[in-house]
Amino acid sequence: MICLSCGYTLDGLQVHRCPECGRAFDPFNSRTFGPIARRTLSETEVRWLGRLYWMLAAIALGVFAPYLNYALAWVVLGHQPIPSADDPKFIRGIGWVRDLCMGWMILAVPVAVLASAVPLVIAMNAKNKRSALWWVVQAALPLVGVATLIAFRGRVMVWFAD
Ligand SMILES: [Zn+2]
Repeated sequence: MICLSCGYTLDGLQVHRCPECGRAFDPFNSRTFGPIARRTLSETEVRWLGRLYWMLAAIALGVFAPYLNYALAWVVLGHQPIPSADDPKFIRGIGWVRDLCMGWMILAVPVAVLASAVPLVIAMNAKNKRSALWWVVQAALPLVGVATLIAFRGRVMVWFAD
């Protein structure tokens, strides 16, 4: 049996109160506790999934690669890059940066989806609601990044896609 509030396993307790959140239960009244013992991830599993998340999230940052390319081109050109005039592929010395940034950006979009799935897996197996909520917030971040890129197709993106 598990706690109705936080999902903590209540088997074998002396006191009929959840040690995690303090909710009382009656072992002889099945309406006061949940039926199935939920499997929660171990600390080690959460740690490894957390690392995987940060790795994927770092790749997902590539959605902002066009901005990096733009900033670099600005420095090299000595003026703000102008769409159609300063073709990112043919800027002296850094033409290859555009290919790199393009590859990173294309890779970043599917990876952002993956990076969001990992914290959701952790959230579904989290020990308590607060920890689950924190992982849901982290799951949202990569998707917010992609949405930002799509929402603000400004001067930088026009120049980059040139
Ligand atoms: Zn509880």
